[in-house]
Amino acid sequence: MWKCPECGRTFKKEHQSHYCGKAPETVDAYILAQDEGIREPLRRIRAVLRNALPDAAEKISWSMPTYWQGHNILHFAASKKHIGLYPGPEAGIILTRRKQA
Ligand SMILES: [Zn+2]
Repeated sequence: MWKCPECGRTFKKEHQSHYCGKAPETVDAYILAQDEGIREPLRRIRAVLRNALPDAAEKISWSMPTYWQGHNILHFAASKKHIGLYPGPEAGIILTRRKQA
């Protein structure tokens, strides 16, 4: 176990990269907390998701940008070398319904 001297969180891997400090509370703050090179792709993904999910609220949940509409529909998160999309079980239903409308 490795304990980050900055924030006190513990990780399996030594010097595990993580968001160190207070967790961002808005998607804007989340994006700004990432490495510069990944901010623009994150902004683009956010624009696509907002367009696809116009009725969903945007918030931070599980430390990730989240689209919420009664449930968490989908999260996205930046890693060192990729961006992850994490749809919940509702994501397909909502996106399909929208396509038919
Ligand atoms: Zn830390």
